[in-house]
Amino acid sequence: MKRLAELERSQWLPRDRIEQLQSERLHKLIEHAYSNVPYYRRAMVERWLRLHGIQSAADLPKLPILTKDIIRDNLEEMCSEGPLRNRLVPAHTSGSTGSPLLFYDSIDEQRCHGLARVIRAREWAGVRLGDRSLHIHLQVQPSSRRKRSAAWVRQELKRAIDVDGCSISEHTLPGIIEQMKRMEPFYLESYPSIIFFIASFIRNSGLSTPHPLAIITGGEQLQDHQRQLIGDVFGPEPYSKYSSFENWEIASECPSHSGMHVNAEDIILELVDEGGARTPRGEQGRILITNLHNYGMPFIRYENGDYSSLAGVPCACGRGLPLLDSLLGRISDFIYAGSGRRVAAISVPFNRLALLGITQHQIVQDEPGRILLRLTAPAATTASAKEAVENGAREFLLPSLGPDMHMEVEFTQHIEPTAAGKHLPVLSRLNHGSLPRGERR
Ligand SMILES: [Zn+2]
Repeated sequence: MKRLAELERSQWLPRDRIEQLQSERLHKLIEHAYSNVPYYRRAMVERWLRLHGIQSAADLPKLPILTKDIIRDNLEEMCSEGPLRNRLVPAHTSGSTGSPLLFYDSIDEQRCHGLARVIRAREWAGVRLGDRSLHIHLQVQPSSRRKRSAAWVRQELKRAIDVDGCSISEHTLPGIIEQMKRMEPFYLESYPSIIFFIASFIRNSGLSTPHPLAIITGGEQLQDHQRQLIGDVFGPEPYSKYSSFENWEIASECPSHSGMHVNAEDIILELVDEGGARTPRGEQGRILITNLHNYGMPFIRYENGDYSSLAGVPCACGRGLPLLDSLLGRISDFIYAGSGRRVAAISVPFNRLALLGITQHQIVQDEPGRILLRLTAPAATTASAKEAVENGAREFLLPSLGPDMHMEVEFTQHIEPTAAGKHLPVLSRLNHGSLPRGERR
């Protein structure tokens, strides 16, 4: 609660004061990493770097980028020596877009700082601590009776109901929607694809609509057509957030909905190009995260595989926190032409597919130059209606994909989420390692 109170105040500080706070915290973290973490000590010695050489975020490029492969190869050396080591617990990413990454979590730091950021992001969406909630996400069933009891107590205390995202289907939805209506008022939190699926179901079935106080989406990119329909059906415009298993809340939307504010008091977010140079404001780059509180296993310049751009203008809300473009992508979100030319999925106007009555879509790519567009269009029941949808989809998408892209279209009842419960807009089965260097991002 103390950390939360600090964050509630610091969000209104001017940009230069927030940067000053970042610099103080960064200097302390680097000092700690040099003295206690073998990997960083070695990295600094090899580069002839002295402690005063890193005074602010501008000095961070003197340190190497931390990739998942480096973590895998140096896991023990990345952990802090001394008493902090005993407080680390193993954790891993979901591996929804690749293989899972094993790392160590400093549980105290994440609980204090990470949870404070989670609660502040909910406050921006108008949610107060203690408001009832319905969370739909991938659920790992507790393995023992004791863990099941602990999970039940935790849910009761949080006034939260957890629903397994994998259980969502047209058969289970009427019951879940009824449950939502019984628990009003509440807020709803899930992947955008799941909330969009529920909104589409309510719209098509004519069921009466529950009225959540707020809707928070995360785990996937919230697309414009999803934002539009979710707002139309439920009332409140959804709040998108960007978080990860490794660093918890990174950025979230404020009531202006004009991008996501980076939690810059706790996180330094850099954007770099393919060569590792900082990208100018407004230009897309690979995201590097430095978590200023993670002392047990520091994440400094950690490349998590996402890319985005920083907005050039400050947010109308008056917060001093930098604004991340709401468009976020992942390395795997690229579509490849036969020539090796690549197209970023976020530059293709998939949002226009909603105009054709398409409720879900997914691009599947097995070989460069060929894609399969899988889609659900519940209203297109006849051959001629399907043909019209297919022609419309080609008209919308092919200009961005390029003339050398061969696209097949497949109508389906439902697009299954990944094993981690996420809906991937691009399911790439290409061997990214074999694509020419410089074409991968
Ligand atoms: Zn704002």
